Amino acid sequence: MAQYLKPLPTITPLNQPYWDSLRRHELRMQRCDKCARVWYPPSPLCPRCWSRQFSWTPLSGRGRVSSWVVFHQPYFKGFESEIPYNVAEVELDEGPRLMTNLVGIANHDIRAGMRVEVVYDDVTADLTLARFKPSTS
Ligand SMILES: [Zn+2]
Repeated sequence: MAQYLKPLPTITPLNQPYWDSLRRHELRMQRCDKCARVWYPPSPLCPRCWSRQFSWTPLSGRGRVSSWVVFHQPYFKGFESEIPYNVAEVELDEGPRLMTNLVGIANHDIRAGMRVEVVYDDVTADLTLARFKPSTS
């Protein structure tokens, strides 16, 4: 695997289950045991009812594009060879919104509201990122 030059996430005890699930090619987020709210980014309590009782629950990996931009400037050296590249916000069917990249689609074909599904991208031996591709369902 080539050297990975892009910024890496800071892994903490709070978000570690999220990154561990991606390494297993699953998308899991915290789901409140009391009110069923699913949220991201990780936090120690439910943003709706403040319960501290939650479970790391597998999600469908499906959602829709709520917003996106195309970067034409390499703010990080590791991205230089990919200019222009997209950064998208995907609203998952379970509710949370995730910053990600869309793959398998030309930047000029991206549309708000388009259906997408997760793709697991093993960028290093220890790190897998959730990216999204167009979905037919
Ligand atoms: Zn709750």
